[in-house]
Amino acid sequence: MQRQAHGHSTGTISASSLFSHTLYSRIVLGRLLSSALPIVPRPIVARVARRYIAGDTLDSAVALVQALNKRGWVATVDLLGEDIIEADQSEMATHRVTEVMEALHANDCQAGVSIKLTQLGIRFDDALCARNVQTILEHAKRCNRFVRIDMEDSSLTSQTINAYKHARKNVPNQRIGTVLQAYLYRTQNDINALLESDVLPDLRICKGIYREPPEHAYTVRSLVTRNFIHCVKTLLAAGAKTAIATHDIVIINALQEYIETHRIDRSLYEFQALLGVPIERTLQRLSDAGHRVRIYVPFGAQWYAYSSRRLRENPEIASHVFKAMFRRID
Ligand code: FAD
Repeated sequence: MQRQAHGHSTGTISASSLFSHTLYSRIVLGRLLSSALPIVPRPIVARVARRYIAGDTLDSAVALVQALNKRGWVATVDLLGEDIIEADQSEMATHRVTEVMEALHANDCQAGVSIKLTQLGIRFDDALCARNVQTILEHAKRCNRFVRIDMEDSSLTSQTINAYKHARKNVPNQRIGTVLQAYLYRTQNDINALLESDVLPDLRICKGIYREPPEHAYTVRSLVTRNFIHCVKTLLAAGAKTAIATHDIVIINALQEYIETHRIDRSLYEFQALLGVPIERTLQRLSDAGHRVRIYVPFGAQWYAYSSRRLRENPEIASHVFKAMFRRID
């Protein structure tokens, strides 16, 4: 799946402004390179994508989480891998997620896990996927870990919401949440429906990373921003736990102001960011002001799909890739 551009506005480019001209060139170059990413050699992608991943091993993820915890930030660990096509791969992934939770528990880490249903078999066997989710949740309960079901492309939105509702019912008292994407038209309705059920939902709101057709998703950046803010306000006003997952300073500032003005209880919300996205100063400012900050920490050998998505949304992609191309490849 490829990331959508969200209709990013480049602003009015003044031909007389050298800065704007350079910026324009970088944006055009970045877009060109982002569509050419599949033909960029893997070692180069690996080199520039390293910042987004804790490492290949579970130990690397635990060490990184410990460093984040020392800084006062909590984490969500994600075992990389998606779109698997065989049952035993899904069972292997399930087993590895249980190992992740055990390691987090044993090392007293302040961290939960995220899972992807396509890593657990949803594309080819619903029942198997449900069993895998059940195994993970029962284990999570024993290890006292929060589990969030990440959201994938819109062909899976309904299935993911149903899996979330089903899991909530099947493993009572286990802390579990899912994700909704502000770029989808349906999201506000999904929120309203979830708010009507007996248990309040626990939702991460993000913009959405997959390429979606205009029949399903806003393609204009300002509309995604507006929907994002509106969705979060709806959830917080209803008292639902909400994770604000974005690096967009406009959204962060608007929601920080809303939260502080309405004195929203600190246990109800948190700000989340992806490992490697350079917004440390903003996150530090938020945590200094008493807001909880959580970093999403992916690790594992299956890094390619995730890293490619991250690179496509990095405005500096062109310069990073070119620099890496002219360095020796180990
Ligand atoms: P953007 O407008 O894309 O970015 C805002 C600014 O942040 C940019 O101008 C840029 O300066 C900077 N920036 C953003 N990305 C990068 C990058 N990779 N490298 C360098 N700078 C960057 N999407 C899903 O579809 N499903 C999920 O389950 C999901 N989970 C997520 C969990 C977390 C914790 C986060 C933070 C994001 C998640 N996403 C998920 C991805 C999300 O949908 C967006 O694609 C991603 O966050 C980029 O959008 P943005 O809100 O940061 O806004």
